[in-house]
Amino acid sequence: MSLPTVTDRRGNERKEIWLKESELVPILHTRLLHGDRLTCCCGDLLTTNYYRFDVRSRSTGNSTNIAYAGDGCSAKLIELSGQIGRPISKLRLFDPLAAAPRAESGRGTGEQGNGGRVIWSPVNRELIDAISLFCIAWRRTSLPDVLLTIRDEVESRPTVPHLRGAAALNTILRKFGGDQRTLSQRLNALRVDNPTLRHFPFVELRRILEARRNDDDTPPTVYL
Ligand SMILES: [Zn+2]
Repeated sequence: MSLPTVTDRRGNERKEIWLKESELVPILHTRLLHGDRLTCCCGDLLTTNYYRFDVRSRSTGNSTNIAYAGDGCSAKLIELSGQIGRPISKLRLFDPLAAAPRAESGRGTGEQGNGGRVIWSPVNRELIDAISLFCIAWRRTSLPDVLLTIRDEVESRPTVPHLRGAAALNTILRKFGGDQRTLSQRLNALRVDNPTLRHFPFVELRRILEARRNDDDTPPTVYL
């Protein structure tokens, strides 16, 4: 579902009213790609890093809008959300243009608040990458609840491979991409303006999907 973008929340007062009316679910913290023209919640154009939120009505729980917030506005929203007792959790930066993560602890997926170093399951790291890329490739769409749930489950148990996630993700990609558009094809289109966009082979997820069998004993079509 394509949702309108919030662009009229300049200043603390409007932001605070907004936070009281709406739940801002943090979906993605990433870097602006070349060719992207996205407007911050305050109405300015985004220039570098930004948060993306799915905005839900506190009264109905329905998704009503998508919102973007650059460094300044996102920091302010997070601060104000804490002050009104409805804190928004911070997200690590997902940088699709950066160098590939090291094998044992992915960029942004290796640290935990307690200072310890968590060894992420490679399956989970690929799931988080894929969900982040879904948000970038289908940025006018609210994140399907299935993917939000997978993300939260992976975040809470990063070391335990989320084996059901691959099939659920593939189903969502089929639904959103149609027969002709895989996630990789979408990324290739973005690569025209962003030649340093990382390649995401999704080796683990493909292996899991390959091992699955349809009723006629064939593996499912992969939409990664
Ligand atoms: Zn702003």
